Amino acid sequence: MVKCKLCGKVVQTTQGLRGHKTFVHGLHANHDSPAVELTFRQRIDENRSAVESEKNSTSEFRDRLEKLENKVISNTKLLTELRRTVSELQQRLALKATRSETNRIATKIEVLGK
Ligand SMILES: [Zn+2]
Repeated sequence: MVKCKLCGKVVQTTQGLRGHKTFVHGLHANHDSPAVELTFRQRIDENRSAVESEKNSTSEFRDRLEKLENKVISNTKLLTELRRTVSELQQRLALKATRSETNRIATKIEVLGK
C-alpha cells in the first residue's frame, strides 16, 4: 500500500501510484521529483489563497450591499415622512385660504348689511 503525496489517495503498488500520478495529476515518472511535487503544492496553495481572497471580497461586497440596502430603507422612510409633512402643510394652507375667503365674505355681508 502506497499513498499519493499529492492527494492522499492510497493505491496498492508503486507502479499503481505511478499510474495514478500520470493519469490523475498529469505527472510522468521522470518528472516525479520533489521539485515537481513542490511546484504542485505551491499551485494548490496559490489556488487556495485565491479562493480565500475571493471569498473575503465576496463577503465584503455583501456587507457593502447590506449597508446600501439599509440606507435605501432609511431614505425611503425619510421620503415618506417628508411627503406626509408636505401633505399636512398643504392641508393647513388650504384651510387658511378657506378661512381668509370666509372672512372676506363675512366682511362683505357685514358691509352690505349696513
Ligand atoms: Zn494523487
